[in-house]
Amino acid sequence: MGIYGKKNGGPILKDYNLYINGKWIPSQGNDFIEVENPATREILAKVPAATENDVLLAIKGSKSSFPMWSKTDPLERLNYVRKIYDYLVKHKDEISKTLSLELGCPLSFGKNRHVEPYLANIENYFEIAENYSYAEDNKDFKIYREPVGVIACITPWNYPFGQIVKKVIPGLLTGNTILLKPSKRTPLTAYYFAEAAEYAKLPPGVFQLLPGRGGEVGNILARDSDVDMVTFTGSTSGGKEIGKLALDTVKKITLELGGKSAAVVLEGADLKMSLKKVLDTVYLNVGQTCSAKSRLVAPRSLKPEIEKHLIELTKSYKFGNPEDESTDVGPLQSKAQFEKVSRYIEIGKEEARLLYEGEIPKGEGYYIGPVIFTDVAPKSKIAQEEIFGPVLSVIYYDTLEEAIEIGNDSIYGLSGMVFGPEKEALEVARQIRTGQIQINDGVFSQNAPFGGYKQSGLGREGSKYGFEEFLEIKAIFM
Ligand code: NAD
Repeated sequence: MGIYGKKNGGPILKDYNLYINGKWIPSQGNDFIEVENPATREILAKVPAATENDVLLAIKGSKSSFPMWSKTDPLERLNYVRKIYDYLVKHKDEISKTLSLELGCPLSFGKNRHVEPYLANIENYFEIAENYSYAEDNKDFKIYREPVGVIACITPWNYPFGQIVKKVIPGLLTGNTILLKPSKRTPLTAYYFAEAAEYAKLPPGVFQLLPGRGGEVGNILARDSDVDMVTFTGSTSGGKEIGKLALDTVKKITLELGGKSAAVVLEGADLKMSLKKVLDTVYLNVGQTCSAKSRLVAPRSLKPEIEKHLIELTKSYKFGNPEDESTDVGPLQSKAQFEKVSRYIEIGKEEARLLYEGEIPKGEGYYIGPVIFTDVAPKSKIAQEEIFGPVLSVIYYDTLEEAIEIGNDSIYGLSGMVFGPEKEALEVARQIRTGQIQINDGVFSQNAPFGGYKQSGLGREGSKYGFEEFLEIKAIFM
């Protein structure tokens, strides 16, 4: 049992072992990773860091269970996965608590923004699976969609529940066997998926959990010739490394990577509503969201009003102790993240004009306040690089062409927003090269395809497009 166990009122988990071949087993090594509460810097638990031998054992298990699982009737697979869902729903309060502790977010935010929407997303995958046809007749041939094989799922720390859902659920439903390597910073939430697999009585080897270090577990998975696909969510640099390794054995690869998304405000936009929507993406989850709209592209003609609203709205977010019920935004997730964001704030002070810097909450944790830079040059570091903290860069434009050019002036293309008269906003949205974009009060949905243009990734998650990433296509001529 981890040192932060049930008796301490913490996460209620089984032994922090590995989950391999349907059993909880200790690692063959003696290396452990400490999981820290970023609000207090207390160690919540220690999880084993899987070794090469652990990983190879798990790969063997996944490989041997694949023929059986891939041939299991899709509706039977659906029944198994429904049981996983039942377990997650039954334990959602406990999961939300564990997630909030290891991520450092308020409990209500953990439940309402990290857990509930992704439980609903699982239901959407069930709907897709129920209605999905794995065979299709064409005039001269038949098309069959078949599972890819053994799939390594490598996930980040910033959405520890949701990012796992988007890989493990469609991966299992489509008949693949799954090896999950969660981030070493937030592995505790991932344990609930292994518990759920055990509860659902998934056949041994169909789902396995390998906590550990990216450069170790992740690299072995990406290299091994018995792994058929790697689905990676994380930084663009990590994705490139994993992608190169996986390409050596020509695995199927999907990459969900970083972003530096633009929110373009047009003249005629409802300013207060627009800016509030932008700030929600930049501040909530402490800006640790890949799709945060951290570049605000705004008309110079509205500069005074925009800056006034930005300051007023920013003051309405309460940064502080996540245990306090009135807190909206907790600390950054780790020391490394704190140092990175602090460094960018210093760079921003040299590159641009500081419009607002919120007070840093007191406490032992990795606390930070909201920061807004204005008159930011489109080519500056704070306009180009992913900061992953509560930092907004405001860039002004004089013409619509310039607004679109700035919107597209990024190596990334993950998300975006456009505010203004609807017809014009749609025209602008069509010209921004990005995987998703919201117009005015258009509501974001987890059930839509999510993924990036340019260096934000390869492939999609969510919807039938995300479901089909886990399938190969076979043409048969009869
Ligand atoms: P990261 O790249 O450091 O790590 C992600 C995962 O990959 C972790 O499990 C890590 O252990 C592993 N890993 C990292 N480098 C590796 C390597 N060289 N070889 C093998 N495995 C490796 O990313 P992070 O800091 O955990 O997450 C934050 C990043 O993720 C941000 O850039 C964010 O934009 C991105 N992200 C993208 C999406 C999306 O859907 N596009 C969603 C969430 C987060």
